[in-house]
Amino acid sequence: ETPPDVRLQVRNLRKSFGGVVAVDDMSFAVEAGTITGLIGPNGAGKSTTFDCITGAHEPDGGTVRFNGEDITGLRPDQIASRGLVRTFQIARELPEMTVLENLMLAPPDQVGERLWRSVVPGARRGVVEQERALRDRVWETLEFFEIDHLARQEAGALSGGQRKLLEMARAMMTDPDLLLLDEPLAGVNPTLEEKLLDRIHDLRDQGYTFLIVEHDMDVIMDHCEHVIVMHQGSLLAEGPPAEIRSNERVIDAYLGE
Ligand code: ADP
Ligand code: MG
Repeated sequence: ETPPDVRLQVRNLRKSFGGVVAVDDMSFAVEAGTITGLIGPNGAGKSTTFDCITGAHEPDGGTVRFNGEDITGLRPDQIASRGLVRTFQIARELPEMTVLENLMLAPPDQVGERLWRSVVPGARRGVVEQERALRDRVWETLEFFEIDHLARQEAGALSGGQRKLLEMARAMMTDPDLLLLDEPLAGVNPTLEEKLLDRIHDLRDQGYTFLIVEHDMDVIMDHCEHVIVMHQGSLLAEGPPAEIRSNERVIDAYLGE
């Protein structure tokens, strides 16, 4: 019953922590091939929604469907292996490893079979061939994100913006069907911010789908075709950016922070 152009469908999602209701009957959908924004004031429940979608938290209620399949309550690795991959608000690179090594390893809970399937399509091949394919894929990805010159640097020594690029590069190694980005622009300087947004656009043009959480609505507004606004755990509004920007309930919610 999920239309084929819908990648992600969240219905009546609920999650509480003790007495705190973080997500309260949240419903929305993400269409394939779009950059969709999920915005809302601090504490609105955006990260918790991500955590419920990606299996980090088990929701108290509601359903999450991905590519038409019910993935509610699956483990993070099971969800990632289906092609739903996330980045974190706080980048989770391996700081004592180089940028190159970080990509060779990719996110441990997200690799599994999928990385190999995306790097070495088709039948199994020899180990040497697999390693060569992985290496090619790593360098291609480093070049795409323009961090190839940092390949031999320790990831922990990168700037905030470079770490965000690395984090996205790691996620892209798995060739995801849907990429969830939690505050990808937080702590990123304007030059790298533009680079990151350009890369997201390029990937969207290639057919990738994005759901981006952002607290500051102005930064991503112009880059999304569809914006979903959360407030106090629920859907406050959704629509095209121009409509959302002038929505009084949205303006009020942000003023009330
Ligand atoms: P956002 O990402 O929109 O800023 P969050 O999803 O992080 O919002 O938080 C929503 C609400 O849930 C907040 O009131 C927050 O304090 C609470 N919350 C989030 N995670 C936890 C947790 N692990 N334990 C207790 N409360 C939490
Ligand atoms: Mg958050």
